Amino acid sequence: MTDSLKLALPNKGRLSDPAIDLLEQAGFHLDVTHERKLQAHTENGEIKVLFVRTSDIAEFVEEGVADAGVTGLDQVKEAQADVEQMLGLGFGSCRLMLAVPETTDWSGIKDVEDGVRVATSFPTITRQWFDERGIEIDLVPVSGATEITPHLGVADLVVDLVSTGSTMAANSLEPVETILDSQAVFVANRDSLADEDTGERLQEFVWVMESVLEAEDSRYLMANVPREKIDTVREMLPGLSSPTVLDLLDRDEMVAVHAVVPEDDVFGLVRGLKEVDAEGILVTPIERLVP
Ligand code: AMP
Repeated sequence: MTDSLKLALPNKGRLSDPAIDLLEQAGFHLDVTHERKLQAHTENGEIKVLFVRTSDIAEFVEEGVADAGVTGLDQVKEAQADVEQMLGLGFGSCRLMLAVPETTDWSGIKDVEDGVRVATSFPTITRQWFDERGIEIDLVPVSGATEITPHLGVADLVVDLVSTGSTMAANSLEPVETILDSQAVFVANRDSLADEDTGERLQEFVWVMESVLEAEDSRYLMANVPREKIDTVREMLPGLSSPTVLDLLDRDEMVAVHAVVPEDDVFGLVRGLKEVDAEGILVTPIERLVP
C-alpha cells in the first residue's frame, strides 16, 4: 500500500470543526472518537490526520511533518512559511486590522510618528507593514487580549484579527486600516507536491474539496414551466450554466426545467417562476459540483 497522505488540522479553536466537517463532506470519514484527538485516519487508511495547534500548522507543512494542512492565511503569513497555497476554504474569514482607541483623533497612517507603540500577536506582519510605510514602531508583543493594551497604557495602537468587529467595539477601539484579508486555507508542502504520487493525490484532494465548496453555494432548481414561457425563463437564468429542458409525458403545454443556480439567486428565481405560472418548483442542495 502507498503511504498515507499526512494532513495537519487544527486540534481546537474556531477552524477545527469546520475543517473536519469539510473533510467529511468531501467523503473522507475520520475515526475521531475522543475529545482530545491527536491523530485520526480515514477508513481506508488513505489519509492520516495530525491534530495540532492552528499556529503550528504552516511550519509543520513547510518542514514536511505533514504533506498539507488547513490553517488561517494570517498564520501562514506570520510564520513566513514557504508553502504552496492551494485553496481558500471560505470559512474562518477575518481581517487583520490596525485599530486606534476611539478617543484618538485619527487623521490617517501618514500622521503616525516613529516610536508609536503597537501591540499585537502578529509581530512579523505588523513590523513589515509599518516598515513598508517607513514608520519605525515600538512593538509590544502579546499572546492574547491585545484589545486591552491601550487601556493599560502600554500601547497606542493595536493590530488584531477582526471578524464581526464586536470585540473591538466592546473595547472602545476603532479599526482604521486593513492589513490582511484572511480565511482558512489549504496549504501544501512543496516537496510533497513535487513528488509524482503524493503530488497527484494532493491535487485530487483539492479537486474534491473544490467541488464541495462549489456545491455549497449552489442549488439544483427544478420546475415545470409553460412551454410558451420558456424563453422568459431562459432570460431569468442569464450567465448561469444553460438549463436542461425536458418534455413531460402527456403534458404538451408544459416542460420541465432543471438548472444549477447560485444559492443567493434562489429567492428571486422562485418568485420569477411563480410569475410565469411555473408548477412543482423544487430546490435541492447539491453534494458535489464537478465543473
Ligand atoms: P483559534 O485556534 O480559534 O485561535 O483560531 C485562530 C484563527 O481563526 C485565526 O488565525 C484566524 O485565521 C481565524 N479567525 C477568524 N476569525 C477570527 C477572529 N475574530 N479572531 C481570531 N481569529 C479568527
